[in-house]
Amino acid sequence: MPVASRVPHRGTHWAVVAGAGELFAERLGPRSASARSGGGATEDESVPEGHSGGGPATAQAGEGGTDGGEAPGGARAVDHLVELQDADSELDRLRNQRNGLPERTALARLRNQLAATDAEVVRVQEQLSESRGRHAELEAEVARLGARVASLRSALKQGSASARDLGAMDHELVGTQQRLDHTEDATLEVIEEIDRLEQLLAQKQELSGELRQQLATADLALAAAEAEVAAKAALVVRSRVQAARLVPPDLLTRYEGMRAKLGGVAVARLVDRSCSGCHLELSPAELAVLRSAPPGSLSTCESCGRILVP
Ligand SMILES: [Zn+2]
Repeated sequence: MPVASRVPHRGTHWAVVAGAGELFAERLGPRSASARSGGGATEDESVPEGHSGGGPATAQAGEGGTDGGEAPGGARAVDHLVELQDADSELDRLRNQRNGLPERTALARLRNQLAATDAEVVRVQEQLSESRGRHAELEAEVARLGARVASLRSALKQGSASARDLGAMDHELVGTQQRLDHTEDATLEVIEEIDRLEQLLAQKQELSGELRQQLATADLALAAAEAEVAAKAALVVRSRVQAARLVPPDLLTRYEGMRAKLGGVAVARLVDRSCSGCHLELSPAELAVLRSAPPGSLSTCESCGRILVP
């Protein structure tokens, strides 16, 4: 297949990039559609010349209203214009499809979940670090109080101090023992909290690992879905290139300008008695003019200004 890796000239809606996953065309900025090349006709030399014998040059179509019949060339110009619009509409549709792929939504959701989980991992790690620090402080305090209790007990046991000092030591022993008991209780609570946090951390880390795996799978799924859409788009881009090269330059310019202004639809069809572009019904007089126009001539919807094809 032809590799269309160039960035098209101004006036082309679709830049075809051949990179993996990026075959999909992307819309360029405002364009001037100033030249024949603007339609992408020169983008792909491998596309057969087709009707170059006389097609475009003789297919001159006028501006606005219902033009006089342009015999064979005119008919072709309208047909190719319709093909061009169909291709552009399909490319617009494919781009929307690509942007709205469910795989993309799933991937975004997983990324959010992973970010939230990793944030929780960090939060739990901080809490754990804090609790371990608190535990170390309490253990030091338990050791200090325990030593003091032992020392007081030993002094009281010797009983060599004065009665008054022994009374004070006894009083201090009671108070220190109470603080020791209290500190030991607090230590146990902190140990329980550390256990709880360690379990929570393990859960969050496991979840994070699972989410990473799911994310990798979702990434591949999105790439595959994008590639599928890109392959379809590449085919449509080919037909667009072929159609564009068979539309007269001034008509192509008009088409591009209208497409930019009219929500991507420059060529509308008559459906029942209404314009498919603006959905307004044509008057009987307008219908009569449109239906009696010679084949291949270009008519315009009076309401929205789109090229109207019966
Ligand atoms: Zn209309």
